[in-house]
Amino acid sequence: MNPLQTAITALSVGSLYALAALGIGLLFGVLRLINFAQGAFITIGAFALLKAQEADAAKTAQSAVMYVNHPSGAKKCSGCKFYIAAKGKGNGACQIVAGSISPNGYCVAYAAK
Ligand code: SF4
Repeated sequence: MNPLQTAITALSVGSLYALAALGIGLLFGVLRLINFAQGAFITIGAFALLKAQEADAAKTAQSAVMYVNHPSGAKKCSGCKFYIAAKGKGNGACQIVAGSISPNGYCVAYAAK
């Protein structure tokens, strides 16, 4: 890990602790009550951020291979060897591209079965 990464990580972790302390201090200042649910709020916020990052990463991965949902050509994900069909109805997945993949989609990494 380089020094810049270390500094950014330290700042983000420090900010998290500062926000938690601010929340506890604010609640105690206003209500005169120590709220031990602060950890739960932080956990919920972190989980929401994680899910948002996953969705963003999937979108980035799809745009990197120029994935399109409804291509005009005959090549479709359902005919690609990397496509993983859904168990029921709906979209499946891909061994290369993250996220929900439509069987009618297409990307430049297409490889016929
Ligand atoms: S590699 Fe591309 S064409 Fe093949 S299944 Fe994945 S997204 Fe579809």
